[in-house]
Amino acid sequence: MQVFTKKSLLKEYISQIKEQSKSVGFVPTMGALHQGHLSLIKKAKKKNDIVVVSIFVNPTQFDNKEDLDKYPITLENDKKLLESVDCDAVFIPSVKEIYDKNIVSEKFDFDGLEHQMEGKFRDGHFDGVGTIVKALLEIVMPTKAYFGEKDFQQLQIIKKLVEKHQLNVTIKGCPIFREEDGLAMSSRNTRLTNEYRKAAPFIHKTLKKAKKKFGIKDADKVTEWVENQFKKHPILELEYFTIANEKTLETITSKKNKEKHRAFIAVFAGEIRLIDNIQLKN
Ligand code: AMP
Repeated sequence: MQVFTKKSLLKEYISQIKEQSKSVGFVPTMGALHQGHLSLIKKAKKKNDIVVVSIFVNPTQFDNKEDLDKYPITLENDKKLLESVDCDAVFIPSVKEIYDKNIVSEKFDFDGLEHQMEGKFRDGHFDGVGTIVKALLEIVMPTKAYFGEKDFQQLQIIKKLVEKHQLNVTIKGCPIFREEDGLAMSSRNTRLTNEYRKAAPFIHKTLKKAKKKFGIKDADKVTEWVENQFKKHPILELEYFTIANEKTLETITSKKNKEKHRAFIAVFAGEIRLIDNIQLKN
């Protein structure tokens, strides 16, 4: 596996690959890799001649300094995991390499997608995401780029970014990879105390029950039910639960038959903020 820290050298490598008419799959990450990340890389390997992964903890998408400072970094283990799935190249730039001295976001208009859910609770988050993903796509110039449905709102926003900026790449969404007990895999899970780690599968269990209820109840009733479940929970704290239209990400109160809906949740397990979502059937 080739390791790059400089964009100029990575660009040179990519243009050599492209000269051979080979396709490039790209998986951007913030590192502390787990099986969820590897599932994206394996999918990219199947569909492309080579796969590039980036590892970059992007400062401009963090609204909480402590979350940024404590974000897990496990570079040596990440490289081993990448070798184990035959990743061809990894790009690990410094903050200076990406931002130089100006560590700020561009401002984006994602047609309102950015104002829903995570956008309401994480100030400037999607401007930061848009800034780094656009920069990385311009450096790597992949044929296809892979993003997890774990961050479903981010996935929809990146599709919008590509459409609005006419970037020449196909965005592929990948299903959520879970622990055996249902907890969605996340780099932040390693920061959970034993007590919170044991409690955390309650999030997915509640989403599954909400999905069942959505078959017979209106969205606002299901939302009320979920909010009550968390009020009764001894340690987990609900930040939001909402049922939204998959395309517009706008909250719905009752279902419309031809549209796809998804339930979204953010929960505090102590200091650690966990998000998850589940597709609903009409
Ligand atoms: P992150 O390193 O958390 O920024 O994630 C990098 C990419 O991996 C994003 O596209 C995430 O949505 C995706 N990802 C993270 N966790 C999972 C998971 N449990 N299942 C599927 N994709 C995931």
